[in-house]
Amino acid sequence: MTEREAGSLRHLPAVAAVLATAQATQLQERHGRLATTDAIRQVIDEARELLRASKAAAPGADELAQRAGAVLDGRQAGLRPLFNLTGTVLHTNLGRAVLAEAAIDAAVAAMRHAVALEYDLADGERGERDDHLRELLCGLTGAQDATVVNNNAAAVLLCLNTFALGREAVVSRGELIEIGGAFRMPDIMTRAGAHMVEVGTTNRTHPADYRNALHADTGIVLKVHTSNYRIQGVTAEVAAAELAAIADAAGVPLLNDLGSGSLVDLSRYGLAREPTVREAVAEGARLVTFSGDKLLGGPQAGFIVGDRELIDRINRNPLKRALRVDKLRLAAIEATLRLYRDPDRLAERLPTLRVLARHKGDIEAQAHRLLASMAGRLGEAFTVEVGDCLSQVGSGALPLDTLASAALLIRSRGSQRRLDALAAALRALPRPVIGRIADGALWLDLRCLAEADEAPLLASLAQLDVEGMATHAP
Ligand SMILES: *Cc1c(COP(=O)(O)O)cnc(C)c1O
Repeated sequence: MTEREAGSLRHLPAVAAVLATAQATQLQERHGRLATTDAIRQVIDEARELLRASKAAAPGADELAQRAGAVLDGRQAGLRPLFNLTGTVLHTNLGRAVLAEAAIDAAVAAMRHAVALEYDLADGERGERDDHLRELLCGLTGAQDATVVNNNAAAVLLCLNTFALGREAVVSRGELIEIGGAFRMPDIMTRAGAHMVEVGTTNRTHPADYRNALHADTGIVLKVHTSNYRIQGVTAEVAAAELAAIADAAGVPLLNDLGSGSLVDLSRYGLAREPTVREAVAEGARLVTFSGDKLLGGPQAGFIVGDRELIDRINRNPLKRALRVDKLRLAAIEATLRLYRDPDRLAERLPTLRVLARHKGDIEAQAHRLLASMAGRLGEAFTVEVGDCLSQVGSGALPLDTLASAALLIRSRGSQRRLDALAAALRALPRPVIGRIADGALWLDLRCLAEADEAPLLASLAQLDVEGMATHAP
């Protein structure tokens, strides 16, 4: 270290000196003493690093207080709202389903007030958490009984653990799926304490494969909806109805894990058909599991519907207590399920369905509405046009069915680095804008942009530092 560098380091103010400035006093009032002190330490550390690397003069206490203010103002919540313009409607990394207004209101009310979570209002005695949903779920699915847990992974785990702990669980080799986020069927089986018995082959499984595997030590037969992939070519699987009959004959319950599992026939809204829970129940599976935040459009949850006697056994499993859902989600689930009792207005009220059913013409018109403002905002460095694209349902639902959509298609007139810098700047906004980079362009698929969000999107874009971007990435 040269004498001069050591000299400017010596001039760096101490934390106490910065805390004593007028601006730091204001910061403490706004953010508290602890957070302000932390931020001051951070900017002093940064200044020290810089002084070691350069010959600059040390900043004064006022300058450091100002930098600390910028740090504190820039500290934004991680879970703040963003614009999902990825084109994937149920994006697992972006929180899957956006909830219906009725569900939001119900959750907020449950947060603000005491609720009869486990209290029977009729006779003033202890009630059951599941009572709020049982009737709704049974009505919507045709099942005898129902229960709800943290998510569908938990639902499968709980079923396996209840019926196949220390026993065998029979499953086709063609259905040993892995879902994003490390949900692997063989691993879940092991953790549930079940011995996995694989039958058939990757592409073909026959009734006799199951029959030959069933014996006195079989605890459960599992059928898994291969949500996120399809096997094509020479294939054979045993249909749920036939498998239910085989399992029944052996006195073993069949669990049909639907994954997404819809409560309504989606073809009614112009979408590809996904097996409904009601159909799965009617086919004879004794237990059916499905997610709350996939096609159903509610909060994260896992449902188990089926025979009363089996659901009773599940409810007596001590693991059920560890996997239960809280009042906020129960309130939101109940409100979401209620919407399904009026299928005619479902697409208006349930954002997931509304967004999935949106017509391309509508999205394209929206893109043209936003085009000029967007181009104006991004300036000369980029070109913007309206482009055709394909949206995806996401969360492994309907993996091969894409939805025709429209996007604002942004290209850099300069380097690709500048496009990456734009994507990064969009992610850094107070309300981040998340698109998708493909074929050398940034695609902002507008399928998930509600009309009411158009003005907030443009307001967000107004905060974009386009000039700063150009200097960083020429
Ligand atoms: C998504 C899925 C799961 C896991 O559901 P989560 O609600 O995400 O826990 C399990 N099985 C299948 C078939 C799925 O598609």
